[in-house]
Amino acid sequence: MALLFDDNDDRYLQWLTQNPGGLVVNCRRTPSSEYMVLHTATCPHISKIRRNQRAGGFTEKSYVKLCGTSEDDLRKAIREFDAQDFSKVCRCMATKNRF
Ligand SMILES: [Zn+2]
Repeated sequence: MALLFDDNDDRYLQWLTQNPGGLVVNCRRTPSSEYMVLHTATCPHISKIRRNQRAGGFTEKSYVKLCGTSEDDLRKAIREFDAQDFSKVCRCMATKNRF
């Protein structure tokens, strides 16, 4: 099962902490098949607040997150947004698969 976080960074960051082996798809607020980027839950891109980034930037502004514990679950979830596949797989996934 995949969970959509679209209005609460605190809950999203809590999910990351509770699911260190989980996966995250970064989507635009209006999900589009052109932007569905797959990351691991520990990837800094989707877990570390950057300088100049305002609070809420992960799920409360232009982007939302789909979270799940398996790639299959997330593939099913993005199909509901008419995406056939992830638009991009982050380099963090290569590291994950090595272990
Ligand atoms: Zn990543």
